[in-house]
Amino acid sequence: MELGENPDREGLVRTPDRVEQALRFLTSGYGADVDAVLNGALFTVDYNEMVIVKDIDFYSLCEHHLLPFFGRCHVAYIPRRQVIGLSKIPRLVEVFARRLQIQERMTNQIAETIREKIDPLGVAVVVEGTHLCMSMRGVEKQNSFALTSAMLGAFRDHARTRMEFLELIKHRGAAPTSLPEGAGLACVTD
Ligand SMILES: [Zn+2]
Repeated sequence: MELGENPDREGLVRTPDRVEQALRFLTSGYGADVDAVLNGALFTVDYNEMVIVKDIDFYSLCEHHLLPFFGRCHVAYIPRRQVIGLSKIPRLVEVFARRLQIQERMTNQIAETIREKIDPLGVAVVVEGTHLCMSMRGVEKQNSFALTSAMLGAFRDHARTRMEFLELIKHRGAAPTSLPEGAGLACVTD
């Protein structure tokens, strides 16, 4: 074996099978049907204040190195006519996290899907991710995490709405107080 290991020793014999199983699970988002996930959980209501689901844990795989990136996702939207059952928001995050991803795309996909499904007045998604391809490979950014955001509709157009959201997801001094345009660190691809 190229790594200098003996692939026949006890601990490794079944490893290819286990890796395959793990990868199937970690990429099961490809087979997930967003409509099925949201089925029966879209409700028409007379409510147009901000809805926030914050601190959603996620685990994903960077598509460049197949190493995990993980962290927290915060989602907000302002309903126009419909709301999504609150418990479905973390499920939606999971659908897009369980794929080979880059954080920027995952952030956009979550936001765009909510826009598509309920046509809200605005959607905001902020993702804070730690990337093992940065912290494990000796890249000198061991404690850094990547911050990405997608702001649509009212969150893009109105600074006050955006600030209110960012203020509400602030926690223990670790979260953003403001986001520059296109904030975020790309996965290191060398
Ligand atoms: Zn990577």
